Amino acid sequence: MHTSSIHLTSGHAASALCPVCGGSEIRISTSIEVHYDVVFEATARDFLVVDEVLGDAMWDADTPAACPRCRWRGTVGDLRRSREALPGYVC
Ligand SMILES: [Zn+2]
Repeated sequence: MHTSSIHLTSGHAASALCPVCGGSEIRISTSIEVHYDVVFEATARDFLVVDEVLGDAMWDADTPAACPRCRWRGTVGDLRRSREALPGYVC
């Protein structure tokens, strides 16, 4: 499974997320599931990918998070206003 980082940025000061510096940009390390349709022919040496669907990136209170501004590291559950401010949050 591929792991990637997602940046969430908000232009509102009221959207402070970082519990240390109040920064509004955080980095969440999460992963997504990718579903592939593949074709295999007996004469071929590899599968041929004919379709792929990316799942949604989701996170919960235990997902690692970090602040690029002050280098704070913690979890999504440590963030200010995490439930209201973060699309994809799973209770
Ligand atoms: Zn910070």
